[in-house]
Order: sequence, then C-alpha cells, then structure tokens
Amino acid sequence: MRIFFVAAEAVPFAKTGGLADVCGTLPLELERLGHEVSIIMPGYRCVGNQAKPFNDRFKVATVGKDLKVYFLQHAKFYDRPQIYGDAQGDYPDNLERFAYLCRETFTLIKDLGKPVDIIHCHDWPTALVPVLLKDQYAKDPFFMKTRTVMTIHNLAYQGVFPKEDMPKTGVSEDLFNPKALEFYEKINLLKGGLIFADEITTVSPQYAKEIQTKEWGCGLDGVIRENKTRLLGILNGLDYALWDPENDPLLAPRYSSKDWLIKRIHKEKIQNIYGLPVFSDIPVFGLVARLCYQKGLDLLESAFQEGLMQRPIQLVFIGVGEDKYQKLLVKLARKYPQQCGVVIRYDEDLAHTVYAGSDFFLMPSVYEPCGLTQMISLRYGTIPIVSGVGGLADTVTDFSSNTKRGNGFVMNSYSVTGMLEAVDRACGVFHQPQRLHDLVIHAMDSRWTWKTSANAYVDCYKGIING
Ligand code: ADP
Repeated sequence: MRIFFVAAEAVPFAKTGGLADVCGTLPLELERLGHEVSIIMPGYRCVGNQAKPFNDRFKVATVGKDLKVYFLQHAKFYDRPQIYGDAQGDYPDNLERFAYLCRETFTLIKDLGKPVDIIHCHDWPTALVPVLLKDQYAKDPFFMKTRTVMTIHNLAYQGVFPKEDMPKTGVSEDLFNPKALEFYEKINLLKGGLIFADEITTVSPQYAKEIQTKEWGCGLDGVIRENKTRLLGILNGLDYALWDPENDPLLAPRYSSKDWLIKRIHKEKIQNIYGLPVFSDIPVFGLVARLCYQKGLDLLESAFQEGLMQRPIQLVFIGVGEDKYQKLLVKLARKYPQQCGVVIRYDEDLAHTVYAGSDFFLMPSVYEPCGLTQMISLRYGTIPIVSGVGGLADTVTDFSSNTKRGNGFVMNSYSVTGMLEAVDRACGVFHQPQRLHDLVIHAMDSRWTWKTSANAYVDCYKGIING
C-alpha cells in the first residue's frame, strides 16, 4: 500500500507530546511491514537543516529505509519558536497555518505523480484533509481510490474557530452546517474530519469506549456515537529500541531486568539533581508530563493537602505547560524542599534519568487517551501508579502479591483516598524486597510493540480499501 501521514508533529523533528512519538514511529513500522510510507508536516524552525530542498514549497529528509518526510515551507507560518503557540496562548493564525498544510498535502501528492491508497490524518490540525478530499477532489480521477483515516490522539483539542473564518479553510462555505463543520455556531475542524473520514481510530480500546459517553466525549460524543461503526481503538506501541535501559545512550550505567538494582545509582543521581536528601530506603515517585488539566495535577494538589507529604516518600517532577500548573509544582517543591523537587522545562536527558531513577511513576490522569509515559516507566522498571482510565486501563493491571500478577497500582477511585491508598500499597511493596523484585521483573517484561499496532492499522487500511 502507498500511505501518506499528515501530521503537525513527528519525532525526531518536532515534538510536544505523544502524538509526535506515534507519527514518527508508526510510519517506520509500516515501512518495515513492506508498505510505501511518506510523511508531510510543517517545516518548523526546530527542523533546522535536517532536510534538503525538494521543490519550491517543500524540503525533504529520508528516515528508515527510504521513508520520505516532506516539510512544507512557509516562513511566515512555521518559522516560529513553538509549534502551536506561545506564553500568550495559541497562535491566532493556527487555522491558516494548518489549513495550508492540509491543502498542500493534495498538491504534493499530485506533484509526486502516484496516487496514494491511504491518507492517515492525526488530530485537528490535519482534519481538513478528509473534508477537502470529499469536497474538492471528489471528481478528480487521481484521488478516486484514495481513502482517509482520522486518528484522535486527544479529543479535548478540536480546532474550534469563529464562523467568520470559514473562507480560510479552503472548503465550500455551505459545509458550515451542523452535519459537517458547524458546532454551536463555530467551525470545528475535528468534527469535520470525523464526519468525512472513511475510518476513525483512536489510540486505545478503552478510550474508544469512553469518547462515546457524555462525560468524556468533549461535546463530540454524539458525532462519535453516530459514527461508531467506523470507530476503532488501536493501542499505541512503544519504541523499544529507543526506550531501553540496556541500550539507552542517555543512561550510564545501563541496566536490564537481570541487574535492575543498578537503578539505585540513578536514584541517587536524581536525588542530587533535585536537591533532595540521598536515602535509598525512601521511595522516589517520578512524574514526567505536559503540565495541563488532563494529567491530574489538581488531584495531586489535593493529595498534598490531605497528607501525601506526611508519608516517608520523595517526589520528583519534570514538566512544562500551563502557567497555573508550573506555579503549583514550584510552590509544592518550595513548601517541601526535603521531599519534593521540580524542574520546569522540556529535557530528554533528565526525563530518561527520572524514568530510570524513580521507584514509582505517578500518573493520576483525569483522562488518558493512551499514554506513553506509563509504558516507558514500566520498561525502566519504575512501577506506575495510575488512574484506571483510557490507555492506562489497557496497559496497567493491579499488582497482587498473592498471584504475583499485575504490573502496577491502579487507583480504586478517582479521589484523594484512591490515590493515597494506591501510594500506600506501593510503599508497602517497596519495603518487601522479594515482592518488589517480582513486580519490577513483571513490569520490565510488559510489551506493547509497534509491530502489533502497525498490523492492526494495516488491517484497518485494507478494510476501507476493500470497502
Ligand atoms: P501526552 O501525549 O498527553 O503529552 P504521553 O504520555 O502520550 O502524553 O507522551 C508524553 C511524551 O512526552 C513522552 O515521550 C514523555 O517522555 C515526553 N515528555 C513529556 N514532558 C516532557 C519533558 N518535560 N521533558 C522531556 N520529555 C517529556
């Protein structure tokens, strides 16, 4: 199959979160399965000189065996310090910036001269592609056999703009109606993508169920329910070549499940980095996250108020995001300097050390479409403590000392009590070396490979191609 990925971010070129991991890794796995895959994305400033000129609008880089990544050039739109916005909020011209990417996807495919079977779109910035295909290219023989897949990585972000901006989308004005792009008198790009795509996927089976409910549907649950026969939940994989404590270039010394006690050296390192007292017999709980509502930081704040710091534990945070949450974490670290440390920045090196050196990984997400950080921490023998939602429910099972089953601790309710109870159970196991050993081994053995996910996507593509 010939498959085209359209994405706003993809590793190793541009990343704000898990979307980039998926859009950079899944295409490589599809290529390994024998498919011809390309990626189109904006040529942001952070791409630097990793690509060579291709034509007057694109630069190109090759990754994997022969996978081409096309970077759309437009200095006014993309030569900026960030991907979506700055401290003032989203860039005000995001509709133009990403509508341009969607329109240019079609001109690039035509320029390349060979029709594609699948255009795989990711989240709202690329959601105009399925709309454009059916609106502008319906009669174009070149695109006659092209089908689209719209993947929801996070339903909370929908690309909502004032209706006056309709001309900027490049699609027919009459698509501003409730059966297409209109959503309560505004343009909703993701809604359009969901309605016009041939197949909708999301990043875990559990999240596929949750987004059909009023509670988690972010206002689009009705649209999703109406289209549920076209909805599929495919769990993301993890790039085990990249995330491997045995071969991680950012770790020294490295370790495997056979000598996981080496983690203690990294624990000492993070205790020093975060200015915490160096004790090996106090459990360290790590948190690596975009700092936003989704990640459950409000619950964490309540847990601080209700006794989390009365326990003999240490917490290390690394994250960047909303000002409110950055300030909250800084405040907590100042209040509890012996137990709590924070670093506010995006830092791959430190994130790897936190994954390796923590004993436990805190992930009390309010919702979590898939989540990669729990998979990463499992791989590093760092036991996740999670809320039982979305992809967390699909990847973390509660550890039972009796059966030795389970790879983490799942909160029994989304409440401070549920969180403290899970933390206490984790601390209990921490102080029982044999049980902790069993749990760490089990965690490090957990696997969600991209090969499995890529095969599921191939089945999905074949399904829509064959009608
Ligand atoms: P989301 O996509 O909601 O941000 P995921 O768990 O799917 O969450 O993926 C987050 C990715 O971003 C992981 O690879 C994680 O290691 C990385 N990450 C998040 N914050 C930071 C940070 N401050 N520094 C380094 N890496 C980070």
